[in-house]
Amino acid sequence: MSQSNNDSFYSSKEFHNFFKNSPRSLVLKADAPRFTILAVSDNYLNLVHKQRGEILGKGLFEAFPGSEGDPSEQNSVQSSFMRVITTREPDELPIFKYEIVVDNTGKKETHYWTNLNEPIFDEEGNVADLINTTTNITGRIRLEQAVEESEARFRIMAEGTNIFIAMADQESNAIYFNRAWSRLTGRSVEDLMAYGWVDLLHPEDKERYLKIYLDAFKVKGPFHGDFRILNKDGEYRWLLADGSARWHTDGSFAGYVSASIDITEQKQSEQRKNDFISMVSHELKTPLTSIKSFVQVLQRKAQKDGDELTVSMLDKADKQVSRMTTLINGFLNVSRLESAQIFIDYKHFDLAELIKETEEDTLAHISSHKVVFAPVEPTIVNADRDKIAQVIQNLISNAAKYSPQSSTIQVACTTQDGKAVVSVKDEGRGISETDLPKLFERYYRVESDENRHIAGFGIGLYLSGEIIKRHDGEIWAESKVDEGSTFYFTLPV
Ligand code: ADP
Repeated sequence: MSQSNNDSFYSSKEFHNFFKNSPRSLVLKADAPRFTILAVSDNYLNLVHKQRGEILGKGLFEAFPGSEGDPSEQNSVQSSFMRVITTREPDELPIFKYEIVVDNTGKKETHYWTNLNEPIFDEEGNVADLINTTTNITGRIRLEQAVEESEARFRIMAEGTNIFIAMADQESNAIYFNRAWSRLTGRSVEDLMAYGWVDLLHPEDKERYLKIYLDAFKVKGPFHGDFRILNKDGEYRWLLADGSARWHTDGSFAGYVSASIDITEQKQSEQRKNDFISMVSHELKTPLTSIKSFVQVLQRKAQKDGDELTVSMLDKADKQVSRMTTLINGFLNVSRLESAQIFIDYKHFDLAELIKETEEDTLAHISSHKVVFAPVEPTIVNADRDKIAQVIQNLISNAAKYSPQSSTIQVACTTQDGKAVVSVKDEGRGISETDLPKLFERYYRVESDENRHIAGFGIGLYLSGEIIKRHDGEIWAESKVDEGSTFYFTLPV
């Protein structure tokens, strides 16, 4: 549309009222290099913190000294105006940086605007005036700068450390490995990202660790796992990884960031300790077996002689020897577990029958507590019968160990959602929330004055946990301090 180059038209009341509320900013006369301001919108006045009277009728760069920029520079306001005049086409400056006085203290701030300039033609078809639309994008730019800075900070941190840092997107594709990863593996980041890291996992750890890793993407919670990875010298190193879910600002899941440390030395010293415990336990068992048989021979002799006192003392000695044997077997089991020598002998059997046997055994051995067994429906499971028996016995003996004499212990077994759920409930001292998640760790014992007087090494629950895990079951405890605890485990039916 052609418009007349009529200054009085712009200064008319009608035009003023119309343009005042326009989303556009200025009407400028194309009288380069002055660019007289013919009309201005409220929108623009708010943006530049000016009154209409201060700028109307002035040249643009007279009203805003310094805003013209270098006319030879592509990104200056002046050069944009000149392009509109010569090309007769609209022109846009995508980002225009401007120092602006924001308050009456004279304080200056850098603002970022976009600047769109459009031509208005006179009757001869020449560019007579310009319409300018200035939009404030300072908020968006500052946000982008903040993101860039935080990204840069993260990279400096991640690249400078010896911790192995990696990131994956929401589909579990690796999207970042820091330099420590390349130093360890001798592989380029690109290579590692193209699933190269999976190729480097130890064959024995691959399936287990990938399960931990990929399962985390389903629940989007933290993950924790160790694995061996081949280094550039062809040796396996143990890494311990901790992963945290990442989230986009809109709350959607972004993937994971993981930090791993080298725990090879710890693993080796653990191995030495295990070997040592295993060796000591073996050595201790031999004399114990001899002691036990001597005690039994003496017992028979004392019985024959009718020496009641000796019989009862030898009986106590025999019990102590049995206790010691159980403890030593516990340690042997731990070291077997660690070196993956524990063998699960799967057979189909009825859990109800096993619990019946446990009941008879318990009633014969535990007189200090009231142990109540709920009736159990026939429940066929495919599991290692002896090991499951060991777990139930362990839970019952713990319940007796950690609850007052004559209190009740309840044992039950039900079927829920295709799983057998065995529970052992006591009325004991209970377990605090901080201790609950750690009970199944190796050598973990709750530290308390009462506990100090109760013998134990903190391996019973660890062994039980490992046995149940190897059956694809779950084991956990629920408890309230001073109100008792219930231990549960499940087995697939
Ligand atoms: P131990 O009994 O030899 O110390 P466990 O592995 O069987 O080792 O148990 C670990 C710890 O868990 C115990 O030291 C005890 O503090 C706590 N605990 C186990 N069972 C119970 C229970 N029924 N009530 C309260 N605390 C328990």
